[in-house]
Amino acid sequence: MLPTEHAFGSTLAAMAAAPLVRDKKTLAFFWAVAVGQDVDHYLWYVWRFRDPSLRRAYQYFRSRYPGTGRKKGQQSENRFLHGPLPLLTVGAASLKFRWLRPVAAAMAFHALLDVVNEYVLLPRVRARSGIETGTPLTESPPELAGSRSSA
Ligand SMILES: [Zn+2]
Repeated sequence: MLPTEHAFGSTLAAMAAAPLVRDKKTLAFFWAVAVGQDVDHYLWYVWRFRDPSLRRAYQYFRSRYPGTGRKKGQQSENRFLHGPLPLLTVGAASLKFRWLRPVAAAMAFHALLDVVNEYVLLPRVRARSGIETGTPLTESPPELAGSRSSA
């Protein structure tokens, strides 16, 4: 799921939960973690291509988005915050440290959105558009118009 889609889903969830949560900072914290968890993709991109451009990183993953029918850009090596181990670790720690509870909830919500997207929404998009998956792409980052020096 793209960060913009995570932002949309997380905003809806935060708005739905707002009447139930007294501390709005907790809600903001939840939202920031639920959207920001995809930072692992960006860190991987910076490490892999030695390119700190957030715009090019977004374009790299966008061009490999499953809905495009191309090979997935998200792999286990750039999803190290998405696995069950980080979620279980933070979840277990949140039993002891109360301030981690919105983080654990946000991580679980982020994972839920990713699973719904992968197994419910994308298959429908692919079926409707007739897109086949697995088209191989080169490993190189996308080249944008203009120089690579701008971030
Ligand atoms: Zn994600």
